[in-house]
Amino acid sequence: MPISYSQPYELVCPTCQTPFVAEAWLIVDAEERPDLVQAIREVSLHDTRCPGCGQTGVVPAPILLHDRRAKAVLFGVPYGMPEAEWNELAQGLLWMLIGALPRENQLPYLGNVQAEAGVAGVAEALDQLNYTPQSAIEAIGDALGSEDSDSLPPLAEAIMRMLAADTPEELQAVLHEYPFLLDEAMDEGLAGLAEAAVDAGEFEISQAFERARITLIQLRQTLDQSSQTLASSKPAVAAQASAPPPANWHSIRRAVLTCEDAGELLALRAEYPILASADADAWLAEEQQALRDVGDLGAAQLIGEARAVLRGER
Ligand SMILES: [Zn+2]
Repeated sequence: MPISYSQPYELVCPTCQTPFVAEAWLIVDAEERPDLVQAIREVSLHDTRCPGCGQTGVVPAPILLHDRRAKAVLFGVPYGMPEAEWNELAQGLLWMLIGALPRENQLPYLGNVQAEAGVAGVAEALDQLNYTPQSAIEAIGDALGSEDSDSLPPLAEAIMRMLAADTPEELQAVLHEYPFLLDEAMDEGLAGLAEAAVDAGEFEISQAFERARITLIQLRQTLDQSSQTLASSKPAVAAQASAPPPANWHSIRRAVLTCEDAGELLALRAEYPILASADADAWLAEEQQALRDVGDLGAAQLIGEARAVLRGER
């Protein structure tokens, strides 16, 4: 069912007295009809033309513009209409709009109608609108700069799983599966989510998002500190690597990462004795640090375990 709504107006040309009917848009949904939004911006939405003499004019119609992304409802009052009259008109159109919107989009901001002088006033107000993320999913998508809607559900799932994690181990597992949670952009995304939830009257959900945000901030700080500690001890680690890796190091390293258990690692070490050297351990240590730096804690941990096995500690 379309949200935007038009209605015929019976007019009489003031120049040649020809009666004619002009169709005028009274409700415009910005997402549904960007073409009509453009007509509002050009202040031509209600323009009309007499079929008899070609005289141009403006239909004395109101306009209710709904922009879900900006969470805004703008009402253009027809020129010279008394307040009591346009108030009632705006109320009636607002009910029509709300009735036409899907249930999940019937949000409290709709009651906050901003009145402007005619189509021109609405056009001016359009330029002032703030486009804040609307839904939880969109907020995360915007924060991460993702345009691909198919990639959004995992984001929502990641946040929900993170919120459901009861132990540090569970949290670690979620972070391993969704390393982007540690991305700094998540901070803004979660703040947007918390805000959107408040706007929707979902205070508990909002608190949950805020909790998730604070948890991630703390985790990031902890990780930053530990990588700084490691960075300060890095010269010692680097000093251990007396030589650059050999040409085939890349494939050896890849083989290390695909090992599924200690037995496979030891077999690999037998095949490539270089893996038993202090140099190899230093190269792997560098890689482990690099993975930690980008927040891929799971992979960093795998390398750490592989190093322990290769050094003969496990
Ligand atoms: Zn005319």
